[in-house]
Amino acid sequence: MADLYKILGITDKEKSLPPKDFNKMVKSKYRKLSMTHHPDKGGDADKFAELNEANETLSNPEKRAQYDNPPRQQAGFGGFGGFGGFGSMRQQTSVNPHITVSLDITLEECFNGTEMNVGYRQSTLCEDCNGEGGSNPSTCSECGGQGHVRFMMGNTEVAMECRTCEGSGQMNVDPCNACNSTGHKAKTTNTTVTIPPSLLSSSTLVSRGGGNEIAKGQFGDLRIKIVVAKHEIFENESHHQPFNLLQEIELIYPEMVLGCQKTVPNIEGKSLKITIPPLTQNGAKLRLKGQGLFHRSASEVKKTRGDMTVEVWVKMPTEMSESEGEVLHQLLDKMEKKEA
Ligand SMILES: [Zn+2]
Ligand SMILES: [Zn+2]
Repeated sequence: MADLYKILGITDKEKSLPPKDFNKMVKSKYRKLSMTHHPDKGGDADKFAELNEANETLSNPEKRAQYDNPPRQQAGFGGFGGFGGFGSMRQQTSVNPHITVSLDITLEECFNGTEMNVGYRQSTLCEDCNGEGGSNPSTCSECGGQGHVRFMMGNTEVAMECRTCEGSGQMNVDPCNACNSTGHKAKTTNTTVTIPPSLLSSSTLVSRGGGNEIAKGQFGDLRIKIVVAKHEIFENESHHQPFNLLQEIELIYPEMVLGCQKTVPNIEGKSLKITIPPLTQNGAKLRLKGQGLFHRSASEVKKTRGDMTVEVWVKMPTEMSESEGEVLHQLLDKMEKKEA
């Protein structure tokens, strides 16, 4: 399959954007490109179809996860003559035992922990044929039960897995219609996951046995990758201090110079009173102890919390009254005299 990221011109760096930003970026790239390639405007229809596919897959978190972690596939045989035409007789396609889905949570949910219902596509063995892909197995006529075929390419002998029986040496005389001879059926499943507090982005929860059924009663794992969405106010201070939060506030010049009292929100939605000292510099950081996320080790959440840094920036006015202008002129005179 073509690289859907390439089709939309998405760079490796853009691939790791938070989901909301990623989707926004996909939409805007798609919009721009689809205008150029729309068949009504003389664009190429194939190219346009590719764009649509890329947009549909990448803008849907579930589809994107499946695209990023495709089921394992047999090596292709394209380009060699004489091996086609046996599709309906094919036996079981191998399925990746593990399923990876990504799950978006808010920063508040990350702080408190939460429970969520996760829907995903799961492959199970077909009941009609017990996962065999059909019934009445017999020796594969293409490879004579060897599971591979040999042929010469110049002086080199090439042994390839037999496409007809996919290496098993056997094929089904009566293919199963219920599963199209794949031996598998996909169904939508859902499960409730408990997300403990302070599980950061890229953490993975593994639910044993929640994956695909690869042999009777044998299931792979469901891997749930946590993605903490970008927050309007707070962000994680740094990779080194992931449990510390950071927020920026803007103050007007007199407040920075004279100092003032302000309130800022915390992650629990409470208002905290803070004191801005006189002569606060642009970009100054105030530290509020214990207002971050709960610390945690790999296995347990602790009672202590990280800190919150409030970064203070001066807000420049976009308009000014006459009397404000007068006061500022006087101030300028005084400050110039002081400097002289
Ligand atoms: Zn064969
Ligand atoms: Zn079947």
